[in-house]
Amino acid sequence: MANVTLAAEAYVGRLPPWDGRTLYLARIDPHLTAGAAVMLDLNAELLKSLETVQATFLRRLLGLSSRSPLGPLFTELGLQPIRYRRAILALRYLAKVVVSAGRAPRLVTAALEESFRMAAMGAASWISDLGHVLTRLEIAVDIESLRNAEYVQECITRVEEAAVSGVWGLLEESTRLEVLAGRPGNRSLSFRSYLRVPHADHRRALTRLLASEHPLAIHSLREGGTPRDARRCRFCRSAGVVEDEVHVLLVCTASDELATLRESLKTAMAEAVPGLTMPRTGVTFGTLHWLLSDRRLLPLWARYVYDVFALVDSDAASGSYVLAVGSPERVTGREEAHSPPRATMLPHASEARHAQTPGMW
Ligand SMILES: [Zn+2]
Repeated sequence: MANVTLAAEAYVGRLPPWDGRTLYLARIDPHLTAGAAVMLDLNAELLKSLETVQATFLRRLLGLSSRSPLGPLFTELGLQPIRYRRAILALRYLAKVVVSAGRAPRLVTAALEESFRMAAMGAASWISDLGHVLTRLEIAVDIESLRNAEYVQECITRVEEAAVSGVWGLLEESTRLEVLAGRPGNRSLSFRSYLRVPHADHRRALTRLLASEHPLAIHSLREGGTPRDARRCRFCRSAGVVEDEVHVLLVCTASDELATLRESLKTAMAEAVPGLTMPRTGVTFGTLHWLLSDRRLLPLWARYVYDVFALVDSDAASGSYVLAVGSPERVTGREEAHSPPRATMLPHASEARHAQTPGMW
């Protein structure tokens, strides 16, 4: 069903994320949550298969690779991982039965009572299985208290909070997702406004930026095991300057093409928002987030990020950067800055990140 839904893109073009999210909730989520109220997720293998379907659909919807981090799928689209959603549905079913005690079918009431009795005896039952499911989600639960509708509602709230903290915990633990983890504001699972940028490729560039699926060396050389300090900027190759998002998008001026793109962006921003006040602080991740926070600027910023990534892709395709990483002698006509061996010269990555030129914006 997930593949068939995305097959629509062959006829209508790239699905806008909001529309894709709507289709997901209408056509895929019902399959992933079918029977969740009574069939609890005790089998990790079966749950994994549902999670795979969910992640595959959401990755394709956002234009991310099959190896992209999971966290951004939920923080950016405003959806819960399926294991939390299924647990909430089971709790809602329990709440419905508990609240309607006396009015629910007698067989259901009797079955629930028997389930509580077996759990109290230490035997396996639906209610004890529900306790296991919640425990796996790191929700402490008192089984006997699940007879109380208010307590069940409290458990639902705690699972919802656990979904948010679980996803954001993954982001904050990751060394790859610094840009996203550093986004100011509430830690929530929400549909993000940048996903409404109309141009599909430009929108995807922003998604790649936040999900760290871009061509910059800080990410592209990570998998090859290149030390962070050695992922030097391909344009300026300044000692100690890592090719990260802030440096290439906001600071580096070593490439004429890059400088031209940035000047064009600034001009377009000034025309789109007369009197626009740029942040006066140094250029940091905060500047990236400021550019992502203003809906008037988003299409311009998205196009700029797309163009810069295309420039980096073009440079990477030339093969010169790979040579530069292996050797300080880059094969271009640009003048080389003399730099002693990296092992003795490059400062720690954190120093390099905080050494961005202030006042560019
Ligand atoms: Zn540079």
